[in-house]
Amino acid sequence: MPPKYIFVVGGVMSSVGKGVASASIGKILQSRGFTVANIKCDMYVNIDAGTIRPAEHGEVFVGEDGVEADQDLGNYERFTNQDCVRDNYITTGQVYQEVIKRERNLEYGGEDVEVVPDIPNEIIRRIKSCQKKNKSEITIVEFGGTVGEYQLLLFLEAARMLKWKEPKNVFFVLVSYLPTPSLLGEQKSKPTQYAVRTLNSAGISPDFILCRADRPVSDSIKNTISTVCSLDKERIMSAPDVYSIYDVLLNFEKENLGGIILKAMGLKAKQTDLKDWRTFSEKVKNINKEVTIGIVGKYFNFKSCRDTYISVIESINHAAWWHNAKPNIVWLDSEKYENHPEELKELDKMDGIIVPGGFGKRGTEGMIMAADYAFRKKIPYFGLCLGMQIMTIAFARMILKTEDANSTELDAKTKNPVISTMAEQKKLLKEKHYGGTMRLGACPAKLEKKSLSFEAYKAENISERHRHRYEFNNDYRDVLERNGLRIAGVNPERNLVEIVEAEDHPWMVGVQFHPEFKSRPLAPHPLFKEFLRAAIKKQK
Ligand code: GLN
Repeated sequence: MPPKYIFVVGGVMSSVGKGVASASIGKILQSRGFTVANIKCDMYVNIDAGTIRPAEHGEVFVGEDGVEADQDLGNYERFTNQDCVRDNYITTGQVYQEVIKRERNLEYGGEDVEVVPDIPNEIIRRIKSCQKKNKSEITIVEFGGTVGEYQLLLFLEAARMLKWKEPKNVFFVLVSYLPTPSLLGEQKSKPTQYAVRTLNSAGISPDFILCRADRPVSDSIKNTISTVCSLDKERIMSAPDVYSIYDVLLNFEKENLGGIILKAMGLKAKQTDLKDWRTFSEKVKNINKEVTIGIVGKYFNFKSCRDTYISVIESINHAAWWHNAKPNIVWLDSEKYENHPEELKELDKMDGIIVPGGFGKRGTEGMIMAADYAFRKKIPYFGLCLGMQIMTIAFARMILKTEDANSTELDAKTKNPVISTMAEQKKLLKEKHYGGTMRLGACPAKLEKKSLSFEAYKAENISERHRHRYEFNNDYRDVLERNGLRIAGVNPERNLVEIVEAEDHPWMVGVQFHPEFKSRPLAPHPLFKEFLRAAIKKQK
């Protein structure tokens, strides 16, 4: 069977859930016995997402190989349970960089290099290379942005060219949005019709339309879209808002999305197996006890925090559901504690707190105060990357009895740099080589047998994904260890401290890595699981 490609494009507006739709299509086809791969194409000229502000553009997701990618790769991993790497992520910047590099190497044999077809050809080459590496029977390629955007044109052109060369192997899904203006109370399909027309003008007709809306689309709307867009009614599907994103695919399956896509492709399902997923979805819906987790962070200044901390939120969800609890996530802006320490009292209402990753000084003093408070009040604490550094600083200030203990990132002149710049980073920073140069991707750690972490992982050797420039300063290891900070995990090759734990505390753990990237709905991350267990225990 020749490999098939499904391009997922957005219509009407962004942020309607193309990522979750693409991930769901991947999972559905996988459950029907096909090997799949998911690719995200982002239109920006950045080489990767590593240099983009998370508060505006969402979390930077890190793959095993250290790719710093769009958050959608996280959705793909959580749904299909397959690791995504560099091949799963394409940006305009990567495409141009490669074409220009090849031109400089005389690889175009004296021809002039043209935006069309050379740029679309490189996009196609990348998609096919990912397909080959994954041996995927069906490759789902999601385009960021919305049809009609200028920057999407070359990607649409690539998809059109591939369709023209392989008409039987290429399919298009339009994820559109159907608004219901509150004054009318009636769902409107015209914006979707315009989106289809715009797509048509790029030489592409959608094979399926997923109608995102706050409610299911009515039969009459389906009829209208069907007539205007020359598409069989069964290929127009409802995608209403759901309780949890993991229900999206079950909703799609209610309308037999998998069967209809496979039929269009001329394929037959080898099996259907979504039993575990359905059981999980039912379980989640029937939970009634609650657990309250505070996230002490600072990237709260734009739209929702959901995009910025999506993997952390999902990891909390997975672990809470595992314990039959519904997570109540509370956003706590660390900056306010700096001028109003009395506000720290709000932490008493939390069953546990998380200090997630972050960069730069703003808000970090408030985070250190929160870590200190959590230690004294025995509130379960989980520090992720920056959160581990914050915890270490809080301990150092207590143990060394000096307020000047800090990280060189936050105070370059600190007399007690308990967190310091990694040796290999010094030159990079001096030369302003910021993009893609952090300590990135999977690194091993060896755990201390008598530790909370060992209890959680039930293994001595682990591997987790990293993204940071600063590290625990080993000069302070002895004094901190002697005074109640357990060194629970160390990188065996480079002797870097990866996990710290508070000895005199029910559950206070800081990890230099990002466990949130490896949690799955049906397989919560062991550390999140134990953190949530401690939080639920505190309630009692
Ligand atoms: N800013 C810190 C560092 O670079 C922590 C990074 C993070 O939280 N991802 O080391």
